[in-house]
Amino acid sequence: MLDNDVLQKDMADMAGVNRRTVWRHMKKYGLECKARTPDNTGMKHRQATKDKIRKSQTGTNNSNYNGGRSTQDGYIIINVGNNVWKLEHRLVMEQHLGRELSTEEHVHHKDEITTNNNIDNLEVMTNSEHTTLHNNKQLAVDADRKYFGINQHKKGG
Ligand SMILES: [Zn+2]
Repeated sequence: MLDNDVLQKDMADMAGVNRRTVWRHMKKYGLECKARTPDNTGMKHRQATKDKIRKSQTGTNNSNYNGGRSTQDGYIIINVGNNVWKLEHRLVMEQHLGRELSTEEHVHHKDEITTNNNIDNLEVMTNSEHTTLHNNKQLAVDADRKYFGINQHKKGG
């Protein structure tokens, strides 16, 4: 934990002086309550900073995301930087799975609304399975159960 005691001790260690001296200096400069070690020293990030970092690494707030969002053929596409556009539903699924999808894998919209990219509406299947699904809706549920189990890809969040 980063508190003034630890901070003072660290500073004392670094400076080779005793805590009292450090404390006196901090007091002198009005630092006793405000002093903290900058984030880039390897000290623990404050919680607010950690939240910010976590947020920036997930969802469409990832570091490459520059705000570009459009549609193409009824799908939402996202500008991930350097003029590269990716299908949002595939991005959402990739982030959900924590890996990239192969070209063999298709992300299906369960409710068939191609702009509903909520993870709960998305499902990974092979291209051929996906074709079968759309060719014969009645078999869709059976195919899902047979090949993927019910909501198998949702395991572990
Ligand atoms: Zn589909």
